[in-house]
Amino acid sequence: MRIETDLKLGFKDVLIRPKRSTLKSRAQVKLERTFTFLHSRRSWTGVPVIAANMDTVGTFELAEVLAQFGLLTAVHKHYSVQQWNEFLKDKEKTIFNHIMASTGTAESDFKLLEQIIAAHPLIEFICIDVANGYAEAFVDFVKQCRDSFPDKTIVAGNVVTGEMVEELLLSGADIVKVGIGPGSVCTTRVKTGVGYPQLSAVIECADAAHGLGGRIISDGGCVCAGDVSKAFGGGADFVMLGGMLAGHDESGGQLIQRDGQQYKLFYGMSSTTAMGKHAGGVAEYRASEGKTVEVPYRGPVAETVKDILGGVRSTCTYVGAAALKELTKRTTFIRVQEQENRTFS
Ligand code: 5GP
Repeated sequence: MRIETDLKLGFKDVLIRPKRSTLKSRAQVKLERTFTFLHSRRSWTGVPVIAANMDTVGTFELAEVLAQFGLLTAVHKHYSVQQWNEFLKDKEKTIFNHIMASTGTAESDFKLLEQIIAAHPLIEFICIDVANGYAEAFVDFVKQCRDSFPDKTIVAGNVVTGEMVEELLLSGADIVKVGIGPGSVCTTRVKTGVGYPQLSAVIECADAAHGLGGRIISDGGCVCAGDVSKAFGGGADFVMLGGMLAGHDESGGQLIQRDGQQYKLFYGMSSTTAMGKHAGGVAEYRASEGKTVEVPYRGPVAETVKDILGGVRSTCTYVGAAALKELTKRTTFIRVQEQENRTFS
């Protein structure tokens, strides 16, 4: 047994120190970034925020709106080829730059992915997502995908430590997804005692990835626009959001009316709800590692997106970053024991 004693930080443990700036307005801040990816060698330009590949968030409806703002959607893996065909029929080419096809590592997942990509070769991104990215079989699957789809940009995760980021990048991933346990409907830390505070995971994994020319996604744990900025400030190239995009018209999940209030169902992808829906129940050998919650209905997602992007732009003006690309360089985190004043919340 060993103990690491240096303190690891989550978003709630820090604030960003303001810096002198010549920027006059947040309208001057450029949120778009351009990346050329390590293996696919494809170049992508957009706002590097991604809707999570959960069936309540990574929907076609959400993808359509987010694409208009230049954001990405990791479309969940439970759509059939026919549903993909219907969605992409008559779509402009730009949508293909703003969606990822998600897959698990089961043989059936891979078959479906092959069919989707064969039918829609313009799709650029593949998102290989498992709860535990540390298994050798997962690394083998990433290699298999790289061999099968040499020119696709491949996302692989989730992990939280530099050595595994390096292994996945060397095995063919262009982008590594970082986060174990921070999610809003995740119970991994409670059920297993395993996890890593998200900001430290991002800082450490970004360092490992950038050393090899790879990229990372900070996945999970953002509860407000400030957290999105902190993730970017910590070195994340992309930030993935679940809970912050749940509860909207375009989100999945059943609409619930109670006592004159409207809610939408939101659940983790390994919750009892999701496993009941997609896998015929929770398998006997595993515990559910996700919650099911009702989030207040929030209307169209466009307003939320504007709010998040406005927040990030504002962060950039506070530290003098004219473009999101400069935010990490301009970020000094201060460790704090308070966040906001909660008198009226
Ligand atoms: P959020 O933005 O809601 O805090 O986090 C979203 C992320 O939570 C997802 O992208 C995914 O990585 C993670 N997640 C989604 N469902 C589950 C689940 O059932 N269990 C766990 N452990 N994590 C989940």
